[in-house]
This record gives sequence, C-alpha cells and structure tokens, in this order.
Amino acid sequence: MSTLQITDLHVNVETDQGTREILRGVDLTINQGEVHAVMGPNGSGKSTLAYTIAGHPKYDVVGGSITLDGEDVLEMSVDERAKAGLFLAMQYPVEIPGVTVSNFLRTSKTAIDGEAPALRPWLKEMRAAMEKLRMDPSFSERNVNEGFSGGEKKRNEILQLELLRPKFAILDETDSGLDVDALRIVSEGVNRVKDETGLGVLLITHYTRILRYIRPDFVHVFVNGKVRDQGGPELADRLEDEGYDRYLAATQADA
Ligand code: ADP
Ligand code: MG
Ligand code: MG
Repeated sequence: MSTLQITDLHVNVETDQGTREILRGVDLTINQGEVHAVMGPNGSGKSTLAYTIAGHPKYDVVGGSITLDGEDVLEMSVDERAKAGLFLAMQYPVEIPGVTVSNFLRTSKTAIDGEAPALRPWLKEMRAAMEKLRMDPSFSERNVNEGFSGGEKKRNEILQLELLRPKFAILDETDSGLDVDALRIVSEGVNRVKDETGLGVLLITHYTRILRYIRPDFVHVFVNGKVRDQGGPELADRLEDEGYDRYLAATQADA
C-alpha cells in the first residue's frame, strides 16, 4: 500500500515585506484509497501546502519532511514527483499558449511513463475520458486553458487525472466555481479513478457540497498554517455551520 506522509512541515515564502512562515508544522498522512478533506479559511496556507508537495520553487521548506512510500519527496524535482505518482489539480490552472490539450496530455503521459503511448489506443482513451467528463472533442485541439471557462479548466485538470493515473492527487479547490452538473461530473471522474486505481486524495475545499459526492474518510481543519483538528465527515458539517472562529481564537498566539 502506498503512503504519502507529511511530518512537521515548515514552509517560508519570501515576500516584499521579508520572509513569512506560512506552514507552521503540518502533519498529514494519506494512504492509498483514502480521501482526506482539508478545510480552512482563506489565506491559511492550503494552496501553499499543495504547491509545496508538488515542488513549486517559490516555497522554501525549512523544516519537516514529505515522503512517498518512504522516499524523500523533497529531494525530488517536480517531474520526478510526477513520475513517482503525485498529481496536483491547481486552484487556478494556467494557460499554455501554443500547446494543445492533446499534445500536452500525450507529452505528460510520455514523460511519466518513460515511453510514448501507442497513438491509436491513446487517442481512443483520451476521447473516451473526455466524453465521460462531457468535454467536447474539439477541446483536444485547443490550447491548454486558453479561453476556457472556470468550469472547463477544472474539467481539464480532472481529464489529466484520469489519463495520468497518479497514486495521489491533490485537488486544490477543484469544486470552486462549478455549477451543480459540472460538480457532479468532476466528482464522478475523481471517484472513477479512485475506484479503478486506489487513488489517494487530498481534497482542499471550502464547501461541504463536494463532500456529498466524494465522501471523505477524514476531515482536517487547517487554520493558520497547520492542521488544528481532525475528524470524520461530520466535522465538515459542523465547520459549515459554525465556521472557524473557535480555531482562529485558539491560534492567535502563533500568528
Ligand atoms: P489558502 O490557499 O489557504 O487560501 P495560500 O496558501 O494561498 O492560502 O496563502 C497563504 C498565505 O501565504 C497568504 O497570506 C498568502 O498571501 C501567502 N502567500 C502564498 N503564496 C505566496 C507567494 N508566492 N508570495 C507571497 N505570499 C504568498
Ligand atoms: Mg484561497
Ligand atoms: Mg488556496
């Protein structure tokens, strides 16, 4: 069984005002096949955690560790992390002018597998995945995310998930800005990959809405750079009712 383990992770960022500690000792362990929801207020460091796992150079790890099946993830380059089975669906997917969705996907698949997939079966697989996500086939020849609506960008992230088949996926607010139909389609995509491959999921969200489609095994409350509480799905409902006030008050000391 695969395990992604984050231990006492401390991360700084350089800002115009100097160095800021964003992550203040994050502990989180995700096993294959588990869904972990991370909920917390804006600015608490959730995307920083996502980017740090993926290897964004802006985030300076000053303490703690991230391991994947015992291997030191922090020693790996971004592409080594992807090859090792880590996947990030970004909160704000970037546009890649001049690169079509089709090219992007095949190049990514080739990089991750170490060899190009045979063309015909690959195209078939890509079209089938797009159909399941209710994406028009014409999207494959459009430039990545260029002129895509918010919902189309999020679907395109899940299309990558379906085709690249990672061990662990970090979904950073993949549900934000989706209407009910798109939310269901995107959630079904995540569940499909999970059922077929035993994907482990770190699901960052503000809303319990998506948790009705993708049932979390654990819910973590993330406030001020750290996991402050954890529980089962019922914790998500309580957070939606009560907000984060009681956690914020308790963390004032280390702000
Ligand atoms: P969340 O995803 O929980 O809303 P973020 O991780 O995006 O939070 O941001 C946490 C804090 O770190 C915010 O105060 C944000 O302004 C700051 N921060 C994040 N990334 C950077 C960066 N690249 N440069 C400067 N500040 C950053
Ligand atoms: Mg945010
Ligand atoms: Mg964020």
